[in-house]
Amino acid sequence: MDDCQFRTAMGKFATGVTVIATEVHGEGTHGMTANAFMSVSLDPKLVVISIGEKAKILNKIKESKTFTVNILSAEQQEVSMIFAGQKKDVEVEFDRLDGKPVIPGAVTQIACEVSAEYVEGDHTLFIGKVTDITIDDEAEPLIFYSGKYRSLTTI
Ligand code: FAD
Ligand code: NAD
Repeated sequence: MDDCQFRTAMGKFATGVTVIATEVHGEGTHGMTANAFMSVSLDPKLVVISIGEKAKILNKIKESKTFTVNILSAEQQEVSMIFAGQKKDVEVEFDRLDGKPVIPGAVTQIACEVSAEYVEGDHTLFIGKVTDITIDDEAEPLIFYSGKYRSLTTI
């Protein structure tokens, strides 16, 4: 099995799109587009994200021990592209939730403290203990499927 076949297969799992954000004291805020996100536990409330070993945000999360997960809305494809490095040099303003940076206009903003990390292959899994949440019930989510952005109405 080659990498392309694996990616094509995984791309058949339709997901939402998130931006993971973190802030290291004195270094400012850093964001990264990610679709490897899952709810893990209700009691306690835990989520998991998976960060590639080459991603700059990896060491920043290790240092800050906090991150936010921002589930993007259908109107935020450009935000996804900015934080995937596909659109350069765009300034982004962040809001705050529980003192952590979050993306304005996201469908859901989830503030987390790292409770565990596991290196698996070329990614690190961070378990996040959820400390606060905001939800916009009216907003539609952005969808990623077969390597393309979609909205719920175009699937
Ligand atoms: P960079 O490449 O430095 O950052 C990414 C981009 O965000 C840069 O262009 C940077 O300028 C911009 N940026 C960062 N902070 C700010 C800021 N404060 N203001 C403005 N711009 C800023 N990779 C994974 O490891 N796990 C995943 O689950 C995952 N899912 C993905 C899902 C999708 C749909 C896509 C398109 C990509 C996904 N990626 C994932 C790949 C990942 O988004 C890219 O490899 C990304 O470029 C790696 O980011 P980085 O931390 O190395 O930082
Ligand atoms: P793509 O067609 O490469 O992605 C399809 C699916 O493959 C993704 O949803 C994910 O499940 C899986 N995947 C892709 N790259 C992976 C990786 N390095 N590790 C583990 N799983 C991976 O999507 P695209 O639009 O070509 O992506 C743009 C860039 O973002 C590519 O460089 C891709 O590798 C990266 N990406 C990384 C991840 C990840 O690390 N989990 C997820 C999505 C996209």
